[in-house]
Amino acid sequence: MTLSTLTDVLRVAREEKVFVVGFVVQGWEDAKAFVEAASETNSNIILQAGPAFRNNMHLGAIARMFETLAKETNVKVVAHLDHGNDFETCKRALDVGFTSVMFDGSRLPFQDNLNKTAKVCDIAKKYEASVEAELGFVGYEDIELNKFTCPEEVGIMTGQVPIDALAISIGNTHLQSRHLAEIDYKLLAEIRAVSSIPLVIHGGSGVSPDDRIKMAREFGVLKFNIGTEFRQLFGQSLRDFFAEDKVSFDRFEIMKSVQKNIKNRAISLLQAFN
Ligand SMILES: [Zn+2]
Repeated sequence: MTLSTLTDVLRVAREEKVFVVGFVVQGWEDAKAFVEAASETNSNIILQAGPAFRNNMHLGAIARMFETLAKETNVKVVAHLDHGNDFETCKRALDVGFTSVMFDGSRLPFQDNLNKTAKVCDIAKKYEASVEAELGFVGYEDIELNKFTCPEEVGIMTGQVPIDALAISIGNTHLQSRHLAEIDYKLLAEIRAVSSIPLVIHGGSGVSPDDRIKMAREFGVLKFNIGTEFRQLFGQSLRDFFAEDKVSFDRFEIMKSVQKNIKNRAISLLQAFN
C-alpha cells in the first residue's frame, strides 16, 4: 500500500477498539522487522523517525525506506516524524514525503506552543498530512522531570487548533527501561472529559501492559510510542550473538539473529494490543 496518514490509522483504531504502536525506528533492520511483525499480525503501524535517527540518516532516505516498506505490506503504515521541534523540521519532513509530523512545542509557553502548532497544522493540511501536538512535558528518565498536562489547556488547544492527536504527560516518562510509570487516572479522566482528541502516550516502554490496555479501552488512548524496550533488545541480542559466536564478521549474518528477536518481540507486543 502507499503510506497512510496518522489520522486514517487512528480512525480505524477507534472503530476497531484497538490501539496503534508508534515504533521508534533506528535503521533498516528494525524497521523491516516491525513491518513484518505488523503484516503477520494484521496490525496497522506507525514508523517513527526521532531526532537521533535523523542525525544519523538523511531524512529523505528515511522517507523512501518507510515508503518502500509500506508498499510491501497490506497493513497501513504511517511515516511519522517524532519530536519535530520547529516549523522548518516539520516542513522538511512533509517535503520528503512523511505523512504525519509531531510538532513538539512542549518546552514552550502554552500560547507560543499553540500558535506554532497552528502554523504546522496549516502547512500539513496542504500536504494532506497529520499533526500530533504535545501539552505538558513528558520528561526523560534521570535527565528531565515530567510536567503534567493541564486539562484546561487541552480544551483550548483542541478547540482552536485542528490537530489530529495529542501527546499528554500523566506519569509516563521517556527512556524508562522498566515498567515504572504511575499513571494518574484522575488526570487522564479530566483530560478525556474536555476533548475527544486521540491521545498519545510517549515513553510507552515504561507503562505496564495492563495500564496500556486500561488507558486504551477506558480512556481512548490510541497511540503508544515504544522505543526503549526494542533498543534494549537490540543491544542484548548483539551481546548474546557475540558471546556465542567468536568468528562471524559479516553484518548480514550478525543482524539476522537480531532481526529475528526484534520481529518476535514486536509480534508479541502487537498481539497483546489487538
Ligand atoms: Zn517522545
